[in-house]
Amino acid sequence: MEKVNILGVNVDKVTNEGATRRICEMLDEPGAHCVYTPNSEIILMAYKDSAFCELLNRADLLTADGIGVVYASRILRNPLSERVAGYDVACRVIEQIASSGHRLYLFGGKPGVAEQAKENLKKQYPLLNIVGTHNGYFKVDEVDEIVDDINSSGADLLFVCLGAPTQEKWIDANKSRLDCKVMMGIGGSLDVFAGTVERAPEKWCKLGLEWLYRLKKEPWRFMRMMALPKFALTVIFRGKRYKKVKKNG
Ligand code: UDP
Repeated sequence: MEKVNILGVNVDKVTNEGATRRICEMLDEPGAHCVYTPNSEIILMAYKDSAFCELLNRADLLTADGIGVVYASRILRNPLSERVAGYDVACRVIEQIASSGHRLYLFGGKPGVAEQAKENLKKQYPLLNIVGTHNGYFKVDEVDEIVDDINSSGADLLFVCLGAPTQEKWIDANKSRLDCKVMMGIGGSLDVFAGTVERAPEKWCKLGLEWLYRLKKEPWRFMRMMALPKFALTVIFRGKRYKKVKKNG
């Protein structure tokens, strides 16, 4: 798959439809696959932390979660066709596996959030096979127990929603002992499935203003959002140092 190198992170040039198709193929392929959905903030973290950058580049699929990443690809003259947000891809994959029997495990969020997400998803997709849930607030010595629970559930698909970079690091550290086919790091998606956080209306998303909507709803994000102008300036002044990447796979 063709990629665009944004400050060292090799983001896949894929559409929402293509990413969904690829994830569904991975579910029927041998081996474990990691899917991350970096936004501007995550790419900036990777720019400052080479080990995290390498971790992201080990993924089987890296999609551009955020209009900032799409703009960056245009600045670098290797444009991504659209934003491929973790939540959107998760919704599409759920639709695809809603009656296929594939087993889904929801991991992350405050206590009760994953269970509520499960309940809401089951209302929408009665045949969806959700085989387990676990909240995302745990001690280091509980990780073995969580891994055992995921493995004994027989999950094929694991949503890991611990926020970045915790979720990507958790997946990378545990992937070799997890029996899942696909592990996706998708941030606050369980909050949206559970209804505790509202997704920006489509109109705002289409205008590339989801960040503004989130800021309006969650003003405490202001400091985190300062990453956006920093990211834009870094891409403008440093981005061209990274070469265009084409890779098979
Ligand atoms: N979270 C978690 N464990 C933690 C810290 C965070 O499960 O130790 C969850 C948090 O409850 C939220 C998600 O991780 O559901 C992070 O959401 P955020 O909106 O910050 O992520 P984004 O989508 O912006 O990456």
